[in-house]
Amino acid sequence: MAINWTETQIEEIVNKVVVGIQGNRTLSQSTWDSVSYCGRAFIGVYEKMEDAIAAAENGYRAVRAMSVAQREKLITVIRGMIRDEAPIMAALGVAETGMGRVDHKTAKHLLVADKTPGTEDIVPTVRTGDFGLTLTEMAPFGVVGSITPSTNPSETVLCNSIGMIAAANGVVFNPHPNAIATSNYAVDLINRASRAAGVPAVLVASMAKPTLDTANVMYKHPAIRLLVCTGGPGVVRAVLASGKKAIGAGAGNPPVIVDDTADIPKAAKDIIDGCTFDNNLPCIAEKEVFAFASIADELIAGMLKNGAYKITAAEAEKLAGIVLKDVKNPKTGIVKKAVARDCVGRDAKVLLEKIGIHVGDEIRCIICETSFDHLFVQEELMMPILPIVRVHNIDEAIELAVKAEHGNRHTAHMHSKNIDHLSRFAKAVETTIFVKNAPSYAGIGFGGEGHTTFTIAGPTGEGITSAKSFTRLRRCVMADSFRII
Ligand code: NAD
Repeated sequence: MAINWTETQIEEIVNKVVVGIQGNRTLSQSTWDSVSYCGRAFIGVYEKMEDAIAAAENGYRAVRAMSVAQREKLITVIRGMIRDEAPIMAALGVAETGMGRVDHKTAKHLLVADKTPGTEDIVPTVRTGDFGLTLTEMAPFGVVGSITPSTNPSETVLCNSIGMIAAANGVVFNPHPNAIATSNYAVDLINRASRAAGVPAVLVASMAKPTLDTANVMYKHPAIRLLVCTGGPGVVRAVLASGKKAIGAGAGNPPVIVDDTADIPKAAKDIIDGCTFDNNLPCIAEKEVFAFASIADELIAGMLKNGAYKITAAEAEKLAGIVLKDVKNPKTGIVKKAVARDCVGRDAKVLLEKIGIHVGDEIRCIICETSFDHLFVQEELMMPILPIVRVHNIDEAIELAVKAEHGNRHTAHMHSKNIDHLSRFAKAVETTIFVKNAPSYAGIGFGGEGHTTFTIAGPTGEGITSAKSFTRLRRCVMADSFRII
């Protein structure tokens, strides 16, 4: 596949990536900015949103002119390039955002390459009867406007692009301002793939300087037929208020229940593995545990064997004062707690150092016992900090876990062998994803059955989005004919 880099550029990239991965350290900023990487200008990145939308409209025309087989061929090229360049995007993501882990981000990109559905997801249906034949097709919307987060920046751009292209849409991105280079690297990858597959260069478009203003232009532009928003509550609210058809993939705060029938050593390992995946950035990752008091000590001991470090109640207060800040709403004057951005997605070791505790690299998670009201339980931290609340029975566990999920209907987890307990919690919590007896990432197809996505649309109900989520149904009726019986 033709990627127009010089040998020196390739060597430079490989060296930097290897250093980044080996030490889980970050790339030097001299190699990238929001419009280029190692001196190579990104294809499809614009200064003005109007120009980006015009390019995406051209992209839409190009993709509509392609046969299903041609789209699938293009997606195959995209998958191959994601596999090849996953370590680069992973290292760039960590370097640019300061969040997450290179090895886990690499795994997330490979998951996108392997398990994002393509054109096979677009399945027409046919109904025949006394009055003939009716065909229902999944048609493209046109140009999709997509808002993407800082937590899985290139993963979301790539996963959404595959689904949107499979459904024959054009797409313009307004990526997170803290992850522009990583997101635009992914946009460029799609456009290089389209070139390699022999279709026009700009298939998907993005912004050099995305802002709330450029997002607003997107919301109001007549060419945008569908908005897809992956982010926190503020942006999902803004997109749903736009007046356009919108898919909202919002915040979570996934609780975990561990009852007295669970395989406790396995539950301990699974919870720490899931909670620490990419330093807790995935919205599906375990955020708080409700453990039966009868097994809580054994569970905590198992976690300590798997890279957890337990802090005291006093240390938890000190840490809470650092990772959560008071933020005043300028309009209402109301003060609310918000996560300190410079703590999100950081290594457990780095967070512990902030309260004067020095540990080795083997420590990947901070655990503590708290009350239900503690901020660590109530706030979506997106850090490898896991509060554990002791409960006395399944009624209390379900009641508290449902409250802690805050009605996001996003994700919940349970470790149990009691099918009544499992069924009761699954029914009560009403989340889009419910994972039983596995790390959270099984819920997005990583060690679990089913396809993957990085846009989990709880608020608007599309669920684990895929190509068909980005389609509109169209009916074609042939009256009195084409029935063969
Ligand atoms: P964020 O909410 O800070 O930002 C998302 C994007 O929206 C950014 O581009 C940001 O600039 C923009 N934005 C924010 N407020 C806006 C507004 N009022 N109008 C227009 N644009 C606005 O996202 P983040 O911190 O990078 O991501 C973390 C959040 O996203 C967490 O809450 C996480 O749970 C959620 N998330 C959800 C999913 C999902 O699939 N449901 C996936 C990833 C992240």
